[in-house]
Amino acid sequence: MDQVLIIGSSAAGISAAIYCARRGIMPRVISYDAGGEMLLSGEIGNYPGVGMTDGWKLTEGFVNHARLYDIHPELGLTVTGLVVGEKGFSVQAKAGDEDRIYESRTIIIATGGHPKELGIPGEKEFRGKGISYCTVCDGPVFKGKTTVTIGGGDSANESGIMLNDIAEHAYVLTKNPDMKGDASLIARLKNSSRVTLIPNAMSKRIMGDAFVSGIEYEDTITHETKQLKTNGVFIHIGLIPNTGFVPSTMERNERGEIVVDKIMCTSVPGIFAAGDVTDTPYKQIGIAAGQGISAALSCLDYLNKH
Ligand SMILES: Cc1cc2nc3c(=O)[nH]c(=O)nc-3n(C[C@H](O)[C@H](O)[C@H](O)COP(=O)(O)OP(=O)(O)OC[C@H]3O[C@@H](n4cnc5c(N)ncnc54)[C@H](O)[C@@H]3O)c2cc1C
Repeated sequence: MDQVLIIGSSAAGISAAIYCARRGIMPRVISYDAGGEMLLSGEIGNYPGVGMTDGWKLTEGFVNHARLYDIHPELGLTVTGLVVGEKGFSVQAKAGDEDRIYESRTIIIATGGHPKELGIPGEKEFRGKGISYCTVCDGPVFKGKTTVTIGGGDSANESGIMLNDIAEHAYVLTKNPDMKGDASLIARLKNSSRVTLIPNAMSKRIMGDAFVSGIEYEDTITHETKQLKTNGVFIHIGLIPNTGFVPSTMERNERGEIVVDKIMCTSVPGIFAAGDVTDTPYKQIGIAAGQGISAALSCLDYLNKH
């Protein structure tokens, strides 16, 4: 049986692993990939101490730092279940077709989230045919074309800024009166010569034939229905936490995020959580890393006492 099992190998999980290893408890880290949402983050200029970087380089930095402590995450695993036992926990995972079981005295959940869907007509039909949830991954395909980004926060701000350098024209549609998030990103978006920001725009339908050709939205002030021609739609409207495997007894909020206290304890003794998967309001790499550290320290404290 392991002492500490960390699920997730990105900002939160790797930070937790480094702190465990430095305190002499070698954790097992299992994950689907290394980097998670961090890999999709594009340009990153707000991780303290690093200056300007991008998601790939920062992930590499986290992974290399972990290697200094001989931490080698087991990747390609999807955790599907977590059972609370008398002396610890049993975690079920799939590695392709193979089923695996891991036993551990404590668990740190650091599984982040995945993009939320809009739920409008055309979204499912044109997924992968002009609709994307990742501008960093798919933006370059739209070189010289017209794009629409839907969303009102930093992911949408970054998407618009990125598409300004790629697309012939990039629209950003938000249902709110203005964009929210980092003021410097909003200013850059608004100063981007090829970006048109359309506020008060409620997306209604994505149209096309074999591929996306347009989008319909409602102006929430005038209630007029309007259409834009576009080759691509990037949806950046938030995250759904990756909590499908957590026990039903664990407290989660209305968005499905794991409820944690100040030191990252969940409602189940012995299970800790950190990063985007938690009910913390701000989803940032620095916050995920800090919470990973808190989770590790709380977990080690728990092991000392039990
Ligand atoms: C487009 C975009 C731009 C962003 N820009 C910035 C930025 O500029 N600055 C900033 O600070 N933040 C930014 N963020 C937010 C940042 O990426 C996240 O806050 C951060 O990655 C959260 O880290 P995490 O460790 O909690 O989760 P994640 O990075 O999402 O990692 C989750 C990990 O868990 C694993 N996992 C998930 N489910 C399972 C499962 N069932 N079984 C096994 N493994 C699983 C994944 O493979 C992954 O390794 C951005 C996000 C996006 C989407």
